[in-house]
Amino acid sequence: MRATVMYSAGDVRIENVPDPQIIEPTDAVIRVARACVCGSDLWPYQKMEHSETGRVMGHEAIGVVEDVGADVRTIKRGDFVIMPFAFSDGTCTFCHDGLQTSCIHGGFFGTTEVAGAQAEAVRIPLADGTLFPVGAHADDALMASLLTLSDVMGTGHHAAIIARVTPGKSVAVVGDGAVGLCGVIAAKRLGAEQIIILGRHADRIALAKDFGATDIVSERGDAAMERVRELTGGYGVHSVLECVGLEQAMNTAISIARPGGAVGRVGVPQEQTIPGSEPAFYNNVTVGGGPAPVRAYIEELLPDVLAGNIEPGRVFDRTVGLDGVPDGYRAMNDREAIKVMVTP
Ligand SMILES: [Zn+2]
Repeated sequence: MRATVMYSAGDVRIENVPDPQIIEPTDAVIRVARACVCGSDLWPYQKMEHSETGRVMGHEAIGVVEDVGADVRTIKRGDFVIMPFAFSDGTCTFCHDGLQTSCIHGGFFGTTEVAGAQAEAVRIPLADGTLFPVGAHADDALMASLLTLSDVMGTGHHAAIIARVTPGKSVAVVGDGAVGLCGVIAAKRLGAEQIIILGRHADRIALAKDFGATDIVSERGDAAMERVRELTGGYGVHSVLECVGLEQAMNTAISIARPGGAVGRVGVPQEQTIPGSEPAFYNNVTVGGGPAPVRAYIEELLPDVLAGNIEPGRVFDRTVGLDGVPDGYRAMNDREAIKVMVTP
């Protein structure tokens, strides 16, 4: 089959690789209906050291189950499923706690150990715990939004939950990428009264407004902090969703939280330490977050997607076949595209 293989920073190729097979009796194989390129795929795209064997990329997909191993009980051939970006057994103590990204038998797709989903098909370890069956074939118009439940929508929701968004709260979203935009949807869905997005790309800001953003802050650093304070009676916001992962974004996130507020961070950090320790301490700001257990959130978010109450699929502004994936990476890296969907 054909798959997306990254060999080093900027070197993304579409190649023929062996078809995925059932290896463990708990595996399934799915035929990929839609996959996509993630903002976090841009970190290796910018930094990856050369690898002889390369890495089959992609950790977000929806598709149809093609084959299941002998011990798979709940997933069957022909099921239309959502593949969360992490696989998990669904039975360990962390899965029971709803933190499947810490599953003791789990791991992540698109790594050197487990091949990714920017491909025609993908092997799913621990299929019963990992896959979420949507039912029969989904409506074509819903495909993009269903795909976001494999990562970005669940990740934006996680940021909002960790930042303790509840009805009537003021919220700021740092970052206007696909996750930040989904964070706006999540904040609105959870009843936030004021939603400030920090971003500067006109197309993304327009979408953020459609999703429920009430205020736009295009400044950076201290100027952004001043502006958010002005918009919140001088205090800052109750909840901050940090959806970037860079030091400056984290500093901004902590500086715009009001005393006693919370920062939910889901941007993959590019530093070893959390900046803003001193203001976070003196303002009693809670800082939390990490890889979103999107598997746990599908059940809650899916009905709103199916009913059309939320349309996170609108974050996709470009669709490519597998041959277009290398250019899709480039387009996202150049901020030409918000998020690229792949139809293998
Ligand atoms: Zn587990």
